[in-house]
Amino acid sequence: MSKRLVILGAGESGTGSAVLAKKQGYDVFVSDNGVIRENYVQLLEEWGIAYEQEGHSEGAILEAGEVIKSPGIPDQAEMVAKARGKNIPVISEIEFAGRYTRSFKICITGSNGKTTTTKLVHQILKDAGLDAGLAGNVGNSLAYQVAMEDHDYFVIELSSFQLDGIYHFKPDIAVLLNITPDHLDRYGHQMEQYVASKFRITSNLAASDLFIYNADDPVIGRHLGRLSLPARLAGFTLGNDRRQAGWIENETMLIQYKNNPFTMSIHDLALKGKHNAYNSMAASIAARALDIRKESIRKSLAHFKGVEHRLEHVLKIHGIHFINDSKATNVNSTWYALESMPDNLIWIAGGQDKGNDYSGLRDLVRDKVKAIICLGVDNNKIHHAFSDLVDTIVDTTTAQEAVQTAYYLSKKGDTVLLSPACASFDLFENYEDRGNQFKKAVRKL
Ligand code: ADP
Repeated sequence: MSKRLVILGAGESGTGSAVLAKKQGYDVFVSDNGVIRENYVQLLEEWGIAYEQEGHSEGAILEAGEVIKSPGIPDQAEMVAKARGKNIPVISEIEFAGRYTRSFKICITGSNGKTTTTKLVHQILKDAGLDAGLAGNVGNSLAYQVAMEDHDYFVIELSSFQLDGIYHFKPDIAVLLNITPDHLDRYGHQMEQYVASKFRITSNLAASDLFIYNADDPVIGRHLGRLSLPARLAGFTLGNDRRQAGWIENETMLIQYKNNPFTMSIHDLALKGKHNAYNSMAASIAARALDIRKESIRKSLAHFKGVEHRLEHVLKIHGIHFINDSKATNVNSTWYALESMPDNLIWIAGGQDKGNDYSGLRDLVRDKVKAIICLGVDNNKIHHAFSDLVDTIVDTTTAQEAVQTAYYLSKKGDTVLLSPACASFDLFENYEDRGNQFKKAVRKL
């Protein structure tokens, strides 16, 4: 194969791949049809890597022996289709980086909970004294870290877009947290395609590898039933099902792995809520599979700080509790947020709708929510979905207005929850910006 490697997209994964490729002796060319961020331009220049921005030079790209595509670029993009048309393999950064590391890889995917679980597993490994890197969707790209400081272990968060470009990449432990509709616009509005994409995490698992999965998830169950994976399987459930590797019994989490049970009261887990019980079980099974001492895992699970913008406690003002769950950008994650909350909620929701179906939230809203504050440009769907259940539904267009209205409507003992169930791009730069503006407004009260 020609040693010419072309990288489409110069974000975190693209520039990381460029550095690794340069170190490996490839003739590298990076092409981005937008403007490349200043820090990435600097990195490319430091490494003497050829690049272009605000456009693609077709001739230079189609000479490639292989193309690495950033996860943000859809498969339908013109340049990607042209490369494929010329039989040039198009792979992801993870596929590429995987070739140059001998680390033990724990890979985590799912529609929700990836970042939380990835950080939790990483923390458990670090607390146990292992040399572990954190990569994928969080922090520095895997490629950059493999180039700069390889580790014994990598804990890697994988989105479906990253999984789409893997062919030979093999996790040692693969975790699948859940599958609920998300990003269907990138999958031809075909749920089956999205499911198949998530299951790519299992495609190269060998008999000695471990697949940890949510046994309560009907979509996972159905798809798994049709595969015959050679890997060892470890399911987890919130039910009392001792056939699984992780389950809950009398408010105690039990992890049965290698005939050596690990137990912990769910009240001692730092992360609260049913969704986090799943995340904690998945992480614990992975940790036990690595033979990390039970006492060490217990300490990590009890002291984990949580991740910003995921059910993050902000402040209590005059007995009113403010919680930032700005990362809840789909209905399923908001379901778990509402589920884990006490009654007397003022719920701030809305934003850019991704084809949401709100019917699954109606029971929780009826039981717990006393007012809804919409924070979005077009809030019609929310009004329509809940106006027969909640008397007070108010429209706002800034985080400050939403927070002030929430404060005005609440009284001692109430909880104000930002958990939008929508993307943020109609009013904010991204979910972090939305969460930060929310927190700033709360602190100003
Ligand atoms: P991801 O990286 O998959 O987007 P995060 O850990 O960032 O997941 O969490 C995203 C949102 O989903 C947050 O609002 C969080 O509270 C919620 N969440 C976390 N874990 C789960 C889970 N296992 N199931 C459903 N929702 C979850």
